[in-house]
Formats: sequence, C-alpha cells, structure tokens
Amino acid sequence: MSQQKKATLKETFISARRAYGIMHKEFPGLIGVVAASRAFSALLPYVSIWFSAQIINELAGMRRVDVLRPLVLWALGSALVLGVIREILERWNVRMQNRFNISRQNVYTDKLLSMDYEDVDKAEVRGLLGKIRGNDNWNAWGFFKLEEVLENTVTGFAGILGAVALTVSLFTSAVPGGQLAFLNHPVFVVLIIGILVLTTMLSSFCHNKSSSSYAALSEEATFGNRMCNLMCLAERPNAGADIRLYNQQKIARWYMDQDKTFVPGGILARHTAGPIGIWAALGSCTEAVLMGIVYVFVCLKSWAGAFGVGSITQYVGAVTAMSRNISEWMKGIGQLRSNVPFMEDIYTFLDIPNKMYQGSLTTEKRSDRQYQVEFKDVSFKYPGTETWALRHVNMKFNVGSRLAVVGENGSGKSTFIKLLCRLYDPQEGQILLNGIDIRKYNYDDYIGIFSVVFQDFKLIAQPIGSNVAGSLKYDEERVKRALTDAGFAERLKTMPRGLDTMLYKNLSAEGVEISGGEAQKIAIARALYKDAPFIILDEPTAALDPIAEAEIYAKFNEISGDRTAVYISHRLSSCKFCDEIAVFDHGQVIQTGTHEALLAQTEGQYAKLWNAQAQYYTET
Ligand code: ADP
Ligand code: MG
Repeated sequence: MSQQKKATLKETFISARRAYGIMHKEFPGLIGVVAASRAFSALLPYVSIWFSAQIINELAGMRRVDVLRPLVLWALGSALVLGVIREILERWNVRMQNRFNISRQNVYTDKLLSMDYEDVDKAEVRGLLGKIRGNDNWNAWGFFKLEEVLENTVTGFAGILGAVALTVSLFTSAVPGGQLAFLNHPVFVVLIIGILVLTTMLSSFCHNKSSSSYAALSEEATFGNRMCNLMCLAERPNAGADIRLYNQQKIARWYMDQDKTFVPGGILARHTAGPIGIWAALGSCTEAVLMGIVYVFVCLKSWAGAFGVGSITQYVGAVTAMSRNISEWMKGIGQLRSNVPFMEDIYTFLDIPNKMYQGSLTTEKRSDRQYQVEFKDVSFKYPGTETWALRHVNMKFNVGSRLAVVGENGSGKSTFIKLLCRLYDPQEGQILLNGIDIRKYNYDDYIGIFSVVFQDFKLIAQPIGSNVAGSLKYDEERVKRALTDAGFAERLKTMPRGLDTMLYKNLSAEGVEISGGEAQKIAIARALYKDAPFIILDEPTAALDPIAEAEIYAKFNEISGDRTAVYISHRLSSCKFCDEIAVFDHGQVIQTGTHEALLAQTEGQYAKLWNAQAQYYTET
C-alpha cells in the first residue's frame, strides 16, 4: 500500500486490532492505564462546570446560604480529590508510555534474532527496518502513534459522553411561555445537533487534510532522516574515527547540503505554509461559527426563563466541549487511518517468513562427546551472489581430533564454519551429524554442540562475567577458569571490580574499553565456558600480538581437551600442531594431511604458502 493512499475503515480496523494486540502482548496493562487516565482527565472538567453552574444559578436566584455552603464545599472537595487522582493516573500513564517506548524496540529485536540468519543482512530487510525506525523517529508513526491515537480516541469518547450528560437538560428545560416559547419546539434539538455535527465534521475534515499533507511527506523525511543518521551523527565509535582520518566530513556535508528536507524553504516548510497551514486554519474557523450559534440559542432560552444564568456556562461549555471531543475522536480515527501504511511496513517486517527447514530431532546428550560431523559434496553461494563461496567440499571431523583449516583470505574458511553452524544452508550436498542431515535436528539443540569464536565476534556492553557466561547468573569459579585458560587472568587482576567490570562505555561511565586482543581472549573464554563438544576458533590470532598468539596455541591442545577442535588461520605456523590440516583455495579443499605430509608435497599450495610466509617468522 502506498503511503499516499488512504486506508478504508475496514483496513484500519484490521490493522489496529493487530497493532494493539502486539502492544498488549509486549506490554500488558499499558492500554488500560492510558485509557483510564485519559477518560478520567476528559470527564474531570465537567464536574467543575456543573458545580459552577449550580453556584451561579443560586447566586443569581434565591441566594440561600444553606444551599450555597454545601455546594461550595462539595465543589472544592471534589476538585481537590479528583485532581489528585487525575495526577496519579497521569503519572502512571506517562511512566508506562516511557517504558513502552523502550520495550517496543523488543518487537523488532526479537524478530531480528528469530528470522533466518541469511535474511538479517539483506538490503531489503535492513532498508525496511531503517524505514520503520525513520518513520518512528521523525513523526512517531507506527507503534508510537498508537499511543497518541489511543489517548485521542479515549479522550474524545469520554468527553462526548460527559458533554451529552450535561446538555440533555438544555433541551428538556422548557421556556415557560411568551414570545420565545417557539424555542421549545423539537425542531431546535435537531437543528442544534445537526449544526454541531456538521461543523465538527467540517473542522475534522480540515484538520485531517492538514495532517495527511504532513504524512504524505514521509518518503522525503525518511530519506532526510537516514541521511542525518548516516552522515552527521557519526556516532558509532569506529565510524567517527574513519570520518576524521579520511576527511570524509566533506562528503557527508555535500550529501547533507543536497538534502533539502528540513531546511527553511525546503519541502517541509513549503507544505507547512501551504496545505498543512491553510487546512488547519479553516478547521479553526468552522469551530468559531458553531460557538456563535450555540451562544445565541442558549442565551435566548435563558433570557426567556428556561433556566438560570449559571446554566449558560454549563451548556455553552458542554456543547463546545462536545464539538472539541468529537473532533478529538475523529482526529484519533484519522490518525489511525494515516498510520495504517506505516503499520503495514512493520507487519511486512514482522511477517518475513522463516524459510529454513527446522527438524525436531534432538541431539542426544552424549557424555563421550561422540559427535561425528561430515560435509558431503557441499556447495554454497551467498544469497544474491553468483560465485560459489564453497564448491564440492568433502570433510569428515574425527571425534576428539584437531583440524586446522588454512587458506588465503576469501578462500571460504569462515563460510565453511557458518554452514557448519547452519547460519546458512548449502544449495548442494549435505552436512551430516552422526549420519543424519543437520536440517533434521531442532536448531537450538543442534547449535548447542558448538562453541565458536567467529572472526567478527561481538561482545556486549555488559559485565565481563555475564559476557563469558552468556547469562546474568553464573558460576564465578568456572568463569574465572575460562578466562584464565584464554590468557586473560593477568588483565582481570588489574580490574578493580573483577568479573563485574563493565565492558565498553555505552551503558556505564565506569565501563572499560578493551583492545581487540583482549576482546578476543574474552570471546575465547566465552566459548570455553559453554563447554560444547566442538570448539571452533576462526582466526583467533588475527587480533592478537605474537606473544598472545603463541600463548593461545601452545595452550590450544590443553584448552580443547577431549573436544573436537577446528582451528582456522591464514597463518600456517599457527596450525602445525593440528592432527590434520585442510587447505582451502577458492572455495575448494585442495589438500589435506599433516603438516609434514603437506610440506613434503613441494609443488602443493601448502608448501607454497608455507615458504611465502616463512620469511616473516623465525620458525622454532
Ligand atoms: P575466508 O574466511 O577464507 O577469508 P570467507 O569464507 O569469509 O573467506 O569468504 C569466502 C567468499 O565468500 C569470499 O569471496 C567473500 O567475498 C564471500 N563472502 C563472504 N561473506 C559473504 C556475504 N555475507 N555475502 C556475500 N559474499 C560473502
Ligand atoms: Mg574468514
């Protein structure tokens, strides 16, 4: 659905039902609190309008003290008590909404984490998510808008009910007689209600026109916002560094200058002076006309003796409030309709199907760690690419052995691991676990047998302890042992808060920034803590200095224990100690064997790489 086309009422209803359903599921209680708070606030003014009318009527009439005193006391008392209740509800409402504003991000995060991995980085998916976030930022379309809609519709609806209650007597109190007795004629009821409805609809129409001219600018604004996010903020630490170093701010500026969305004289400004403003002004005019007509009718009736002067405030107040609330309500519905296409984007994102087949087989828990994995003639292309990242790969992991995977950059080593972990499925061939295609296993169960340190691993801005354990509660001794095995013990000693030391400064000013090598050690510790039957290190030495590197692979045997270990590196010297070495080249396994056997094939790729690299190392 295009952003310009108005949704029908039916589409609006269907969309809203799903939206509020998600909102309720993510944050139960929110809808109730918002509605209660708004309804209460909307009804409250009528209480004082009613009391004022009674008091003025009495003052202008018989002026009985014994009637006035309780009236005044009740008016003051109710204003106090109800006012306090309103404030409490309002605070509660604001707090709930603020919390929802954070937790609604979970809707997207949960989806990102549960969708097929190959979809996560797709341009369409990223683009869609960027668009959703952009719409959310610039004018709070999407979930954010739903809170406003809820507030407006509930305020409107409660306000209408209150106003009706206070207006009924305007029509039922009759002019006692005389020239103006014709005002008692029922035609006036119809007339006043007719005018009320007409002007209100007209004014709502104008206001909706105004706000939909605004909504129609979303494409431009999305683009403008993305530009801002990409260019001016440079908020990610690394992006900032690159922009400085390569003087990229000039490019950023140039792009910014091309974008005329938000500047004076820009598209947004022109629309505000034009349709957005003119429609809003017309809307306000019709409201003034209604006020005039109601004043004349009410005053004439009062003058003719139908009710006291005090009631004039009540009726005029109630009728104008009625009009305001009808438009409030209609505005809410209008916003809900304008919001439909934005919700549609969100639904498109949430409905991205998981295409990867998931079996239900459980991987039996084996204390002997006898898990046999085999690649059988596996070929794989990354989605949307034409070249084979892996071609006809055959490989058998011998239980408990150490396999090294070597090869030049881009030869397919990391891809091999991603397939093993089933982040992607191969287009051809099969990967088997104990003879059964890995697609037949339950995914969570299957992934449980692997501890992987990915080449581009990420730690999170959390204390070291929970980073390693992957949970908030953990066995401290085990975490320390894992960190020690990964070579992080010395550094840990320098941290005053030990395992509670926060990583990175994103969330805490006391967080520590760590080097790439240190991060890698923590990531290795995390893999060790998981204690899975397979341990896989993808280029673990890339970010380590030579001493740390020597430390890691001197210890690798010990670290691996009885696990099946896969060690990936483009530095051959790191792999000598492995039982078997597989040489990758352009997505194919071209050689396998021990270090000695491979070196003996003097014409082979391994020997070539070895000799090329040997000059950089003093071999021991
Ligand atoms: P290695 O780990 O051996 O350096 P990779 O397995 O990372 O190599 O990459 C193998 C090939 O696949 C390379 O040509 C690389 O450009 C390509 N490739 C890697 N990741 C992706 C991806 N996400 N999308 C498309 N192509 C990719
Ligand atoms: Mg790699």
